[in-house]
Amino acid sequence: MNRLPLYQINWQQPLTDLPASFYQQIAVQPLQQTFVIHANGEAARLLGVSASGFIGQTVLDIANGKLLPGMQTVATVYGGHQFGIYTSQLGDGRALSLGEAHCRNGQRFDIQLKGAGLTAYSRTLDGRLPLASAIYEYLGGEALAGLGIASTRSLALVGSKTTLQRDENQSAAIMMRMARSHLRFGHIEYFHHRDQFDEVKKMVGYVVEQHYPELLTFNEAERPSRVLTLIVRQTAELVAHWQSEGFTHGVMNTDNMTLTGETLDLGSYGFMECFTQDYSPNPNDDQHRYQFDQQPEIGRWNCLALAEAFSSLLPNKTIPARLLRIYRQHYQQTYLQRMRTKLGLYLQHPDDAGLIKNGLATLQLCGIDSPLFFRRLATFQAGARNNYLFELSQQPEPLRQWLQQYQQRLAQEMVAADIRRKRMLQINPAYVLRKHLVDNVCQRAVQGDYEELARIMALLKSPYEEVAGMEAYAMPAEVQKPSLQRVS
Ligand code: AMP
Ligand code: MG
Repeated sequence: MNRLPLYQINWQQPLTDLPASFYQQIAVQPLQQTFVIHANGEAARLLGVSASGFIGQTVLDIANGKLLPGMQTVATVYGGHQFGIYTSQLGDGRALSLGEAHCRNGQRFDIQLKGAGLTAYSRTLDGRLPLASAIYEYLGGEALAGLGIASTRSLALVGSKTTLQRDENQSAAIMMRMARSHLRFGHIEYFHHRDQFDEVKKMVGYVVEQHYPELLTFNEAERPSRVLTLIVRQTAELVAHWQSEGFTHGVMNTDNMTLTGETLDLGSYGFMECFTQDYSPNPNDDQHRYQFDQQPEIGRWNCLALAEAFSSLLPNKTIPARLLRIYRQHYQQTYLQRMRTKLGLYLQHPDDAGLIKNGLATLQLCGIDSPLFFRRLATFQAGARNNYLFELSQQPEPLRQWLQQYQQRLAQEMVAADIRRKRMLQINPAYVLRKHLVDNVCQRAVQGDYEELARIMALLKSPYEEVAGMEAYAMPAEVQKPSLQRVS
């Protein structure tokens, strides 16, 4: 298929179909002396855009406010539960939707600029995005996408000579990101908690029309509970994928949860290295509310908050108990399935959940680096010494015991060892976005060196393929360097 340059895409802005109280139309407030740091051909391809038609001037023009025909910059209003407490007035304080790209293959993506200036929802903040935060988000989305996990995608990163007043002076960046939708649980919560039930109905109707058109065949009264069920299922699936890849979002507030099941607002996230269930990458999360092993329960809690926001549209205005059952079942099913595949198990056995749980407890007890462990498990051989696994472990005995259980379970599989090995190497990545890798990209970028960013982006695109000369990128930091102080 011939790919189009960006400016030939059909752009529309459906958000302006909503009542005026749902959004603000506001122009981009350009930064000084902007330049393209990175343009992601991989994500652009999803739009049917040619790399040559994407990189360069068009991106820069857009970031500077020179919009393409059909684009309209819109900031939307939302609320949300932040760390368990409802905040009534949030909104796109530093993000603007440019509109939806209607691609030739029938797909549609909402494209946003993050860091493009003040909006009506910026509160006391500055509407800007520091370069290091932009890099964190830019890499995080692509790291998840490379693992096949739903996420906002990173289209382009634009740097500038504008300096931001933060703890440490940093330059401002603008990130161009895309998703099926950037609408959040908080978009529904906002109107519900203001008792604006007509607006709740309009917002839910909009979500169904735009993103779940398959539900339009049901009568109108049935659609809210159906769409809610779909969102709950997608959320359960998303969190299950996070858990199986050791990803911690870090800020699972309901205003950071999309209505279309994509990971959003990757600010203080992290990928598990040395396995520990209480891993918490967000330094602002003192109580560890959003630590790794809390995420499934928080996902459920967030779905409950969403269901409450839907309640005026549900039969008898009551949240059906089955919703939360659906969440649990769907979470468990998805998690087990992905973890089995990571372990090279293709049959279902009633003790698999126990085997997985013991495996993770062993990783924690023995201080084992989890990405290396899963990757190396692909070459596990029954009866062999398996030194490359034991060398990861601070104590051999618990690992030996677990490998014995694993070996017994493997013996029930019908798949030949070399096929299992190949399959396991396709689901257990060689390259994981370790913290020291991101920090290194940030440290270099603030000095004007963007090569490391491009290098990591290339690895994240195909994290299962080992690249000669890049072995060090698969390893933990030998000595953890002091982390760059990040301010959002
Ligand atoms: P976050 O914690 O980044 O998810 O943001 C929570 C809310 O604060 C959202 O409404 C953001 O749009 C807003 N926000 C965060 N940082 C800024 C900023 N620098 N300027 C304006 N709004 C911001
Ligand atoms: Mg947010």
